[in-house]
Amino acid sequence: MVDRVRFLLDEDDIPTTWYNLAADLPPLHPPLNPATGRPVTRDEMAATMPEPVIEQELSTEREWEIPEPVRQIYAQWRPSPLHRARRLEAELGTPARIYYKYEGVAPTGSHKPNTAVAQVYYNKLAGKRGLVTETGAGQWGSATAQSAAMFGMSAKVYMVKVSFTQKPYRRSLMETFGTVCVPSPSVETAAGRAVLAEDPECPGSLGIATSEALEAASTDDSLGYVLGSAANHVLGHQTIIGLEAIRQFELADDYPDIVIGCAGGGSNLAGLSFPFLGQKLRGGQDVRLIAAEPAACPTLTRGTVAYDYADKAGLTPLFRMHTLGHGFVPPTFHAGGLRAHGMGQLVSRAVEDGHMEATAVTQRRCFDGAVLFARTEGILPAPESTHAIRVAIDEAMRCREEGRQQTILFGLSGHGHFDLTAYERYFAGELDDTVLDDETIAAAKATIPEQVWDVEEPAA
Ligand SMILES: *Cc1c(COP(=O)(O)O)cnc(C)c1O
Repeated sequence: MVDRVRFLLDEDDIPTTWYNLAADLPPLHPPLNPATGRPVTRDEMAATMPEPVIEQELSTEREWEIPEPVRQIYAQWRPSPLHRARRLEAELGTPARIYYKYEGVAPTGSHKPNTAVAQVYYNKLAGKRGLVTETGAGQWGSATAQSAAMFGMSAKVYMVKVSFTQKPYRRSLMETFGTVCVPSPSVETAAGRAVLAEDPECPGSLGIATSEALEAASTDDSLGYVLGSAANHVLGHQTIIGLEAIRQFELADDYPDIVIGCAGGGSNLAGLSFPFLGQKLRGGQDVRLIAAEPAACPTLTRGTVAYDYADKAGLTPLFRMHTLGHGFVPPTFHAGGLRAHGMGQLVSRAVEDGHMEATAVTQRRCFDGAVLFARTEGILPAPESTHAIRVAIDEAMRCREEGRQQTILFGLSGHGHFDLTAYERYFAGELDDTVLDDETIAAAKATIPEQVWDVEEPAA
């Protein structure tokens, strides 16, 4: 008999509902319309979201039913495997048991299709013919492109320019699915032209690309806008990851003491960890949650909790979240998917309320961990995922020093097959360990809008 290294479920075991953490937390602060200073209304949300998505965005129901056509597409790669990292454990000489939930088995190589499939489906139901969105590293754009193709819809993706140049194959992948991919900032939109007028060499940011996509969607009624991270409904769709993991831990006859995920807008982290947090909040076993973020974009560890826009041009509502300021353009490090100035409000809330810790890690230490992981476990991680690996290794080493046998679970959010330029640069010694200085952070935070509106505390 071999030692178990994978804990697998059947297609029939794909969960039938997603989990909504809002059901187990005190009420969230509502997103605000900056023009009125009042909470965003359903009518206002309807400009960018189909009805079922609005319902989920505002929901305090614990469970949301997964539509059958969505489960049917999930079945092409889900349930994703839970792995026990026995070879990494041996290499580290740690008494800790390390597990990872591997989302790289999805057709486009990350967790992103878990929500893309759902959002594209709801937009199709609403009668939209095409989709428009932004993408950082290209993972979200690829997921949207794949889902759009599977539902017979068109798609246009504004891709952060630095990634567009670093990752030409992500673009080819999107084009193969029939999607049009535009480097952002572009001259196609007023938002893009404004940025280029100020800085023609601007490498782009997720905030800028979001402004462009929202503008493009608002000018054509047949286009639906889909969103890769941060929003409540996105985090909800991603809980398929943690819900499966809970059942897989039953197969393993184990339960995590620590759950770790990398944090960009917070969706894979929330997706893996919220179902465990929910069980804890409802009287279940204690569990430590850790958000791993890049030192070059330290939203949770050095950001401020405040109302701010989710995009650069200020087209979105104001969300109360950890933010570095919507004007922040992060330096060009390789984990493109983690270059977000703001955090999903549910993740921010979990951190604020002490349910989740956050730690920032530098780029080279992440790749050190990733290479060790690749050489022991045989899987090449996405640059984003290396942040979770690094923190998992650090926790496993702490277990070794303290002689403690803990169970560590981390999210391996994607594979790095399209990110070999980053590995090439790591081996050439060209990666830097940018840690932002206080002036840069202060200048970025100066773009957080001043609070000139009245916010009522939500009823407890
Ligand atoms: C997009 C992406 C992330 C970051 O986004 P979250 O919403 O924070 O999960 C992390 N890992 C991979 C592989 C990604 O594609």
